[in-house]
Amino acid sequence: MIDLRSDTVTKPTPEMRRAMAEAEVGDDVYGEDPTVNRLEQRAAEIFGKEAALFVPTGTMGNTIGIKVHTRHGQEVICESRAHILNYELAMMAWFAGCVARPIAGENGLLHWDQIRKEIRPVSPHYAPTGLIEIENTHNVAGGSVYPPERIEEICDGAHSMGLKVHMDGARVFNAATACEKPVNELCAKVDTVNFCLSKGLGAPVGSMLVGTRDAIDRGRLYRKRLGGGMRQAGVLAAAGLIAIDKMSRRLHEDHANARLLAEGIAGLPGIRVNLPNVRTNIVIFDVSATGRASAELSAAFKERGLRINGLSPTLMRMVTHHDVNSDACRQALEVIRSVLVR
Ligand SMILES: *Cc1c(COP(=O)(O)O)cnc(C)c1O
Repeated sequence: MIDLRSDTVTKPTPEMRRAMAEAEVGDDVYGEDPTVNRLEQRAAEIFGKEAALFVPTGTMGNTIGIKVHTRHGQEVICESRAHILNYELAMMAWFAGCVARPIAGENGLLHWDQIRKEIRPVSPHYAPTGLIEIENTHNVAGGSVYPPERIEEICDGAHSMGLKVHMDGARVFNAATACEKPVNELCAKVDTVNFCLSKGLGAPVGSMLVGTRDAIDRGRLYRKRLGGGMRQAGVLAAAGLIAIDKMSRRLHEDHANARLLAEGIAGLPGIRVNLPNVRTNIVIFDVSATGRASAELSAAFKERGLRINGLSPTLMRMVTHHDVNSDACRQALEVIRSVLVR
């Protein structure tokens, strides 16, 4: 099976398995797991922030990130297709007591001008704005990447109005690779960032929330409340260290494979793909003109050894990653061609 459903399907590398087997561990709820402590220090250092928190999932990282910046009854400004709004079971409402104020952005990316207009003035009618959230890369908008200066502009604008910015950087290393800038530059002005170790970086489990010492200290208590206080988590953190230091350097390969796939399908009958927007490891394509629904195509691909999911009846998504090399991507193209060209 060639699995292009998501980069979450990556399995730990042999080097990760060895590091996991040999990891020094302790009880992390007591702050005594040396490998978790090393991972948190390393993440803080590489992002140029004061502190970091190891969490089981990206959903928990975002949930805590939103919670530490907001109060009940506030609004969180985000893009309409944001993961925090559409794929996290309304956690911002359930846990932080906030509602989303969604704004549609071109390719999933917002401008400060758009955000500025949605910030609520003090009023007896409006819920006050509590936080601005941006997603980089933007998942269901096709892995699109924020121009670094646009992030700065959003943060400067938000801070001038006393608001914080949280980045859902589940794939921020993909963004950094595409911009050819280190993550500490991309994230210099954002207040907190969440990023996933368990996607393109290949670790089996885990995400990191990075920010100020105060935000992370408070976040650690919310992690415990959410049931995310892990004990000998060093076995997982050991893989996370390799994910950050090694696997982050090879993401350009995934991006080249995504290009290969995007260009390969662009000429097929009934397929529409926004080629200039394919800059990272995600390829979203429209199948409506094939006359077949994405579920039907998914099933036909699967029968021929290829797994691709639909995002909707007309949109499908391919995600490249460590466990699918360029030969496998060429094979995937053959399968897609054989299903579509009859
Ligand atoms: C995957 C993802 C997350 C977190 O997902 P988990 O499955 O909870 O780790 C958050 N935001 C984006 C954009 C994602 O793609």
